[in-house]
Amino acid sequence: MDLAAYERRVRSGGCFICGLIRGDPGAEHEVLYDDGTHLAFLSRHPTLRGYALVAPRRHVTDVVRDLGTAEYLALQAVVHAVALAINDVVATERTYLLSLGSMQGNAHVHWHVAPLPPGVPYDRQQFHAVMAEHGVIPQTPGEIATLGAAIRAAIVRPDPGGGVQAI
Ligand SMILES: [Zn+2]
Repeated sequence: MDLAAYERRVRSGGCFICGLIRGDPGAEHEVLYDDGTHLAFLSRHPTLRGYALVAPRRHVTDVVRDLGTAEYLALQAVVHAVALAINDVVATERTYLLSLGSMQGNAHVHWHVAPLPPGVPYDRQQFHAVMAEHGVIPQTPGEIATLGAAIRAAIVRPDPGGGVQAI
């Protein structure tokens, strides 16, 4: 992965999440979940197999101030549902959930769902495990499609009332 080219694209290009929603050429991702308000999709540069992102479809940039309590909790319900599905599909010792991004690029609020597999040495866990500088997993389009289909099949749609319902 060319990290310098990636940074240039992130910092000078348009919003990649809004591009994905619009269907812009080149912005395609393997979508895992879309309820009209939230979107989940596989990372194109995964450091861990099953690494996904969850975002509100609305272009908001401040994960705290741009979301009301109900909107924030609804987003977290989707993060949880997607993480549960990923845990079903990918052997996971611990799931990292992080809101990253930058006002200088990748500003659209998104949560990282990063499943750490069993057996990773302690010094390669946590931030080390999510940094592309330490290598991304090469995947073929077929592998991405197969993984996406398995995760989609495992997602149980969150219920705003706190329970769950089948999709
Ligand atoms: Zn956006």
